[in-house]
Amino acid sequence: MTTSNDTHQRQTLGFQAEVRELLQLMIHSLYSHREIFLRELISNASDANDKLRFESLAKPELAAGDTDLAIWVEADPKAHTLTIRDNGIGMSRAEVIDNLGTIARSGTAEFVKRMSGDQQKDSQLIGQFGVGFYSAFIVAERVEVFSRRADLPASEAVHWESAAAGEYTIETIERAERGTSVVLHLRADAHEFADAWRLRSLVRRYSDHIGFPVNMPKEGQASLEFEAVNQGTALWTRQRTEITEEEYHEFYRHITHDSTAPLAYSHNKVEGKREYTSLLYVPAAAPFDLWQRDAARGLKLYVRRVFIMDDAEQFLPLYLRFIKGVVDSSDLPLNVSRELLQHNSEVESMRSALTRRALDMLSKLAKDEPDRYKSFWTEFGAVLKEGLAEDPGNRDKLLPLMRFASTANEHDDEDVQLADYVARMKPGQERLYFVVGESLAAARSHPAIESLRAKGVEVLLLGRRVDAWVMDQLTEFEGKRFKDATRGDLELGGLADEAEKARAESALKESKALLKRVKDALGERVSEVRVSTRLKDSVACLVGGEHDISAPLRRALEAAGQRAPEAKPVLELNVEHEVVKRLDGEADATAFNDLALLLFEQASLAEGGQLTDPGAFVQRLNRLLVRLAAR
Ligand code: ADP
Repeated sequence: MTTSNDTHQRQTLGFQAEVRELLQLMIHSLYSHREIFLRELISNASDANDKLRFESLAKPELAAGDTDLAIWVEADPKAHTLTIRDNGIGMSRAEVIDNLGTIARSGTAEFVKRMSGDQQKDSQLIGQFGVGFYSAFIVAERVEVFSRRADLPASEAVHWESAAAGEYTIETIERAERGTSVVLHLRADAHEFADAWRLRSLVRRYSDHIGFPVNMPKEGQASLEFEAVNQGTALWTRQRTEITEEEYHEFYRHITHDSTAPLAYSHNKVEGKREYTSLLYVPAAAPFDLWQRDAARGLKLYVRRVFIMDDAEQFLPLYLRFIKGVVDSSDLPLNVSRELLQHNSEVESMRSALTRRALDMLSKLAKDEPDRYKSFWTEFGAVLKEGLAEDPGNRDKLLPLMRFASTANEHDDEDVQLADYVARMKPGQERLYFVVGESLAAARSHPAIESLRAKGVEVLLLGRRVDAWVMDQLTEFEGKRFKDATRGDLELGGLADEAEKARAESALKESKALLKRVKDALGERVSEVRVSTRLKDSVACLVGGEHDISAPLRRALEAAGQRAPEAKPVLELNVEHEVVKRLDGEADATAFNDLALLLFEQASLAEGGQLTDPGAFVQRLNRLLVRLAAR
C-alpha cells in the first residue's frame, strides 16, 4: 500500500522485464567498444541542458542563479568511480522511475531480438535503439543517480541506485544543485575508465561537437579547479573548413545514436533573406522502423542555437524520412510549436530548399561514389522511389537517382540507371519499356516482354507493390516516354521491320475466325481477343487497355481494401504457337471451350493474377489430360 507519504521514502522497485533482459545482455555480452557508455551519458547530459535552456525561455527562474550550463566529468581512481554531472533540467521522482526503470519505446523487444552475440554489432545496436543510459552497466557494477528537477525544491531531489540485478531503489533526498549526477562504480575489469589520461581523450572525442563545455579537473591538480576539454561550440555553427570528417561522424553518432558512419553529409549556411544552417546526413543502414507509420522522423530543430525539438518532421518530405540531421533557424520564433511549424511559409520554403539539398547530396554520392550509392539504394531505394509520386516537382532530380533491375543485366544482377538505358536504346526505339510483376522473378518471366527481349530491347523490371503506383505517375525521361509493356499497343515504332509487319497482317487475316470463336467462348471475361506482337514462347498473355489501371495496381488497391475501377483485359494469342494451331483445328465445342478458357487462365496466372474459380480450372485441366491420354 502506498500512501502519499510513502512516495518520499525509500522504495525498492523491479525493472520492467525488457529492461532486465537488456541489462543482462549488456553486462554479459559486451566486451569490446565498452567506452560507448561515455558517449551516451554525455549525450544525455547535453540533452538535459538543452531542455533546461528551452524551458527557461518561458520560465527564466528555472535557470536562475546558475545560468552557465555545462557538463562535468570527474573520476576518482582510488574509489574507482566516475561521475558525469550536468546542471540541466533534472528529473522528478516519477520521471526517474519512468525513464530509468522502463523503456517506453516500442523498439526494445526488437532490440533484444536483434542482439546477435557479435559484440561489435551489438554495441552498435545499443546506441541505435536509444537504450543509452543502461549502457552505464557495461562498465559499472553499481550506478547511482542524483537528480533535482529545475522546478522542484531542494527537498524533492531523488537518489536512484541499482546494481542491475533486476531491481533498483529510489528515495527522496535533499539536494541543492539543479540537474543530474550519474555516479558509476566501476567493475574491477573497467578501472581504466577512472584513469585521468584515458578519460580525457575519450571525453574529448565524444564531446567536441557539443554546444556546452565539458569540464574536467585540471591536469595534475588534486584541487577542485576544472577546465573545459572540448571546444564547447555546437558543431554546425563552426566553419565547414575547420571540421574534420571524424568530427562530422562523431556528431552524427551523437544525434542519431547510430554508431555506423553515415554514407554522406551536407553542411550548409544560408544567408540573406532567410538565415539558417542545416547539417544533413544519409545513414548507412535503414532503421528497423523505416516502414512503421508512426516512427519518429525529421530533423533536430534549433532556433538561434537553442534546442527546440527533436523529430521536426516538417522540414523534409515523407520520402526523405531516412535523412537525419539538424536545422538551426535564425528567423523562427523561439516559442515555435509543432502546430506552428505546420502552417508557416518560412518552414515551407526551408522544406523545399532542404529537399533539394538532400537530393543534391544523393546525386553527388551517386556520381562520386557509385558503390556507396548502391548500398544506399539497397537500404533506402524503395523509400526514395515514393518521391516520384509524392513530389512531382522534383522528378527531374529524382529520376536519375532511380535504379532498376533490367533485362540488360540479368546475369550480373546489377541495377541500371535511366541514362544508361537511353544510351543503349536500339535504333528506331522510342519508348522506355518497363514491366511490373508481383515479384522481380515474375516481372522477369512476364510473357508480355518476350518479343522485346527477343529483339534485344531492354525492359526495366519492377517487382514491388509500390512500383505499380509509382510507375503509373511517370511520363517521360529526357524526352522519351515510359511504356508499360503490359498495356495497350507496344508502340514498337521503328523497332518493327517490314517483314514482321507483313507477317502480322496476314496472321490477323488468317486468325479472324479463330479470334471470334475464342472471344465467344470467353464472353465477358475479356474485352477483346487479338493477335499478339508481344509473345515469343508463351501461348497467351493478358494486356490492359492503354488508359486502364494496371493489373498490379488493381491488385495492390484491392489488397488495401479499396475498390479499383472496372476494366476488362485483352487476351492476346501467339498464333504461331502449336497450342493455338491445335485450338484452331478443334471441332469439338466442349474441348474448344475448355482449351480457350485454359489459355485465359494460364495467362492470368503468368502475370501474377489469381483464378476466380480454381476448382473449375482444375476440372478443365483434367478433362484435357484425359483427352490427351485417350489419343
Ligand atoms: P534516450 O536518451 O535515448 O531517451 P536513455 O536511456 O539514455 O534514452 O535515457 C532515458 C531518459 O532518461 C531520457 O530520455 C531522459 O528523459 C532521461 N535522462 C537520462 N539522463 C538524463 C539526465 N542527465 N538528465 C535528465 N534526464 C535524463
